[in-house]
Amino acid sequence: MKFHVFVFVGVVHFLPLNSGKAVYGNGISQRTFQEIKEEIARYGDVAKAIINLAVYGKARNRSYERLALLVDTVGPRLSGSKSLEKAIQIMHQNLQEDGLENVHLEPVKIPHWERGEESAVMLEPRIHKMAVLGLGSSIGTPPEGITAEVLVVTSFDELQRRAPEARGKIVVYNQPYTNYSRAVQYRVQGAVEAAKVGALASLIRSVASFSIYSPHTGIQEYQDGVPKIPTACITVEDAEMMSRMASRGSRIVIQLKMGAKNYPDADSFNTVAEIIGSKYPEQVVLVSGHLDSWDVGQGAMDDGGGAFISWEALSLIKDLGLRPKRTLRLVLWTAEEQGGIGALQYYQLHKANISNYSLVMESDLGTFLPSGLQFTGSDKARAIVEEVMCLLEPINVTQVFRAGEGTDINFWIQAGVPGASFPRYGEDCRKAFTRSQAGSVHGPGYLQFEFPSSCHEAK
Ligand SMILES: [Zn+2]
Repeated sequence: MKFHVFVFVGVVHFLPLNSGKAVYGNGISQRTFQEIKEEIARYGDVAKAIINLAVYGKARNRSYERLALLVDTVGPRLSGSKSLEKAIQIMHQNLQEDGLENVHLEPVKIPHWERGEESAVMLEPRIHKMAVLGLGSSIGTPPEGITAEVLVVTSFDELQRRAPEARGKIVVYNQPYTNYSRAVQYRVQGAVEAAKVGALASLIRSVASFSIYSPHTGIQEYQDGVPKIPTACITVEDAEMMSRMASRGSRIVIQLKMGAKNYPDADSFNTVAEIIGSKYPEQVVLVSGHLDSWDVGQGAMDDGGGAFISWEALSLIKDLGLRPKRTLRLVLWTAEEQGGIGALQYYQLHKANISNYSLVMESDLGTFLPSGLQFTGSDKARAIVEEVMCLLEPINVTQVFRAGEGTDINFWIQAGVPGASFPRYGEDCRKAFTRSQAGSVHGPGYLQFEFPSSCHEAK
């Protein structure tokens, strides 16, 4: 659990972070950076109180225990499922019982796809039952399945070069895992590209650095005017094996069966709770995570953890009797996994008030040991965030990285609102790079990390 979110939001809502347009103005008063810095420093005791409550006090492990209860009770929370709606109702009640303000549900329409039974069996060059997971929004196969020869490719370029070989086959993508954003294109667009060259189905190597023979699911997208073909993920191991078989000239035949179905859009909700601001109640600091998950796990990490630490941020501030100047708003998104569907509808509904959004935050890159905060915003806003993060020195979490992001908050960030999120790699960031490597470095993933000067150096 990344408790530093609590401290960060506990302090930033007092400050004029704003949307990167008039950072030090905000229609309140023109202040120098030095004045702002001094004001931030005065929140040292507030930050310590939040840290003490979250890390050592009665709220210790609370967020984890709340999360464990929900995911053990409800289980997976797939978009369009009854269990997602049950989780939303439970959370609505939880937030009311927690004594938060303006607790309510905002209706949205979300996709309803069901996986059904699925299997993949290699028939040639040997019988081999394969682990497979259909991709979200994929159509199913006919009941007897699709039995066809396989064409293995490692890239869309190779598929183009070998397009005449793809007709009537099952295309297997064995794309290398260089980073998530590159590899995930094969999951999202693999079926469309294969269908364009006449394939009957596509199988994609799971978007993971390793899989321990476990396929990963996720969303895929069809394109208007391109035939829809069934598509699923296979394991890294099977993708590599078929690649080796193909390179030896072996003929590979697979029988793929998928019972997947798309249903009409379902009714769902974004779940909202607040601590209303005392001085600028119309101005919003938004913290968030998504409640929906895929159907093949408990959704504890993705994104139960992010949703529950966001809730905890409000709980801690309420428990301490703090009243922020700006409204602190929690949003638990629905149908993120289907492409940020709940968040898009929230943005469309609320964007007329965009100038009132001071900061949008989401935790959806996994919950790890805290290492810092990723931030997107103007240089002036970044300077303020760096000062706020210095209040986390007692738990040694003061770094501010580049590229704050999140599927659900990107709509706001792209429109100019400062955005913040938590790094994917947690402790690995710190292990991999030391301050002797200061400057711009590339992390183990696709994010570019920049190490700021430490609070000690700055003071
Ligand atoms: Zn997620």
